[in-house]
Amino acid sequence: MNPVTTPPPPTKTSTMTYLPALEKTDPEIRDLIIQEEKREFNKLRLIPSENYASHAVREATGSIFTNKYSEGYPKKRYYEGQQVTDLLEALACDRAKKIFGVDHVNVQPHSGSPANMASYRAILKPGDTIMGLSLPHGGHLTHGWKSNFSGSLYNSVPYELDPKTEMLNYDKIRELALEVKPQLIIAGYTAYPRIIDWTKFREICDEVGAKFHADTSHITGLIVGGQHPNPFPIADTGITTTHKTLRGPRGAMILCKEENAEAVNKAIIPGIQGGPHLHTISGIAVALKESQTPEFKVYAEQVVKNAKALAERLLKHGFRLVSGGTDNHLILMEVFESKGILGRDASRALDKAGIVCNCNLVPFDKKSPFNPSGIRIGTPSMTSRGMKEAEMEKLGDWMNEALANADNDSILQRIEGEVKELCQNFQCPGIDPSKW
Ligand SMILES: *Cc1c(COP(=O)(O)O)cnc(C)c1O
Repeated sequence: MNPVTTPPPPTKTSTMTYLPALEKTDPEIRDLIIQEEKREFNKLRLIPSENYASHAVREATGSIFTNKYSEGYPKKRYYEGQQVTDLLEALACDRAKKIFGVDHVNVQPHSGSPANMASYRAILKPGDTIMGLSLPHGGHLTHGWKSNFSGSLYNSVPYELDPKTEMLNYDKIRELALEVKPQLIIAGYTAYPRIIDWTKFREICDEVGAKFHADTSHITGLIVGGQHPNPFPIADTGITTTHKTLRGPRGAMILCKEENAEAVNKAIIPGIQGGPHLHTISGIAVALKESQTPEFKVYAEQVVKNAKALAERLLKHGFRLVSGGTDNHLILMEVFESKGILGRDASRALDKAGIVCNCNLVPFDKKSPFNPSGIRIGTPSMTSRGMKEAEMEKLGDWMNEALANADNDSILQRIEGEVKELCQNFQCPGIDPSKW
């Protein structure tokens, strides 16, 4: 055989074993990590709350800070040995304060749900009335859902979307607020594809004497990248997760006015948590730094451009989009009435085709949450890979074909192969396939 025409070996650049310590102590877990890396590399990930954390974020998150206990706050800790941790936490807080233009930031919440819990605990009494968007309309569990602490500890009176426009109707929200006189109104959602007018919420809160809590978990990357208004300077309290469009590690922050700073800090510890996860906080600090680069701004712009391009393609194929389209990173698509397939069946078929999304209730859904009428899709992960409008069009075509052939495994398999082929041409932040 002519050695010149021999194909090169698989692109393994180094002879070093990947994850060598794990290979020695726990090959089973190492194998699962590599399997997940391959899955994230070879699929189109459309779950709008997911993303790819960078290598730098993951180096920090996997760092030695996991070893240290730091109950308390910089310069006010219970244990000794805080020479470095104090610097780390102060730096993370300073970065966030500058970026979001707020008086106070707490970077210790373990995730978004405890961040909301601590925020409410800081400014409410049990039994107070809260108004958040109802879960089936796109609100979060922690915004007053009945089986969540927020629905049992507080008197939850949810507002809903307008039945015609499927968007926020600020006049209706104001009317409800005048009627129930809540102590708190919550804005910020998990399945709402439109821009939120924070100033309207501020005005309503001021009129009825409520506090205003903003939860930007989904859209924080868009806010930082200049694609969505920033509520934190005018909110009494607010939270964001750090792992969604912001592209940090799994975690959260509370951002608030100075007058609520002490109550917020106390609500986290001793209120609901013990020691902070400093390794996560170091990853959050890195993500905040990355969010200030010109590349991040381009990413945020492209997230929205991609969502609009995908929405247009799906509309062309006859799908019905809740509210008619999107202004942000996500699309909520009604598939039952427009295409005769239930949401869970749709998301399962798409998963077989290498396109990963989640089924979702649509506003005024008549179906059950376990097999609702819609699916929720988003562009952050694909945009982090460098995909643009041309790939979104292709994706829209694949989704249309997969959903029209949801029972045809050979068609779904063919699409899965085409998706995988496309994915080979795009990097993934934090994943290096040459190491496998
Ligand atoms: C994701 C999300 C949360 C909760 O975050 P977890 O980290 O999953 O607890 C809270 N609020 C909103 C609006 C979210 O999108």
